[in-house]
Amino acid sequence: MQRTMTTTALVDPRTATVEGATRESLAGLGREALGERLASIGVPERQLRMRVSQLWGWIYVRGATSFDHMTDVAKDLRQTLAARFSLDRPEIVSEQVSVDGTRKWLLRLADGKDVETVYIPEEDRGTLCISSQVGCTLNCTFCHTGTQRLVRNLTAREIVGQIMLARDRIGDWPGAVPDDPAGLPSGARKITNVVLMGMGEPLYNFDNVRDACAIAADGAGLSISKRRITLSTSGIVPEIPRWGDEAGTMLAISLHAVRDTLRDELVPINKKWPIRALLDACRAYPGLSNAKRITFEYVMLKGVNDSIADAKALVKLLAKIPAKINLIPFNPWPGAPYECSDWEQIEKFAEVVNRAGYASPVRSPRGRDIMAACGQLKSASLKQRASERLGGAPA
Ligand code: SAH
Ligand code: SF4
Repeated sequence: MQRTMTTTALVDPRTATVEGATRESLAGLGREALGERLASIGVPERQLRMRVSQLWGWIYVRGATSFDHMTDVAKDLRQTLAARFSLDRPEIVSEQVSVDGTRKWLLRLADGKDVETVYIPEEDRGTLCISSQVGCTLNCTFCHTGTQRLVRNLTAREIVGQIMLARDRIGDWPGAVPDDPAGLPSGARKITNVVLMGMGEPLYNFDNVRDACAIAADGAGLSISKRRITLSTSGIVPEIPRWGDEAGTMLAISLHAVRDTLRDELVPINKKWPIRALLDACRAYPGLSNAKRITFEYVMLKGVNDSIADAKALVKLLAKIPAKINLIPFNPWPGAPYECSDWEQIEKFAEVVNRAGYASPVRSPRGRDIMAACGQLKSASLKQRASERLGGAPA
């Protein structure tokens, strides 16, 4: 069946208010924070551990959206919880489904800021691409997110909330039935992998991203193993060893150039931490082995970084590092100063990389029709406001 792109505007029917005040959501909190909230409503110290485990199972294993469902929690406690707290996820402003099954959600956070989350289904896996910041402070010249000026860190709850609402929308909780099963992976789990490749530089929001990954990886909860979570960084070198020690997820590096002069231009943070320092940090990444390789991302920009000499230099540069290479066809956005390399050139480049022993290195672009591909994410409200300022129609 040919799928057509659809866009749906959704308003969260569960927006919860008590006497005009919004109740704090417990969905996305860690065990410690959950314990504090329970103590604040008078749960005795000696019961806290048990109550936290009960809530943990309801929130993260079963995806409960109402305290009423928590049948093994005493009724009066359920009522107190419901009076003080909610289980809301970030509000979904719109949902777009690409012809290739990719889904993109525009989310509105409590302070009115927007972020995007993308789900990419494949036959044997489903990858959720989540955001770590509103916008990004770095200005990589080929990235749409980098052109957004407004930036703030997401909280751990907002990061975990993206996983929870994606599971809601695609029916990925035990016993749930997807609204639209077409194109979803065949296995029991629909979200098998999480990548921090949405908006933002995750290592600039270290603590919240680390805490969110710990909640996602918790074996008694969402259970997305650290081997299936990948953090992508533009190269915040001092944070790389710390990330390995404290979070230990898989790592992806946005390399994009093999010479400092060019990388300084494409990924300006390179001026602070050049290629050599970056690769030294990669070599020392805790747990690095042939079974746990670092992925090097390389965006294919026509006439800029896509020569055969660049390909040869790339494999030489990475020779002694257990690595995967991921060639990303440049995803264009309005006003972008680059073009995607010609397909022929990408193939020639890939052949050099293949011959050096790296398997199928080209990432097929997904969700292009809904601007869901890598580096295209940007807050829609911001685009809209900008176009209003210019007197044009909303983007
Ligand atoms: N800030 C982090 C993670 C988010 S970007 C980072 O830079 O790694 C995720 C990936 O998309 C990065 O490799 C980034 O360089 C790449 N990317 C950004 N804009 C792109 C574009 N327009 N086309 C293709 N890839 C892009
Ligand atoms: Fe930020 Fe990554 Fe985009 Fe660079 S590529 S501007 S680091 S989101």
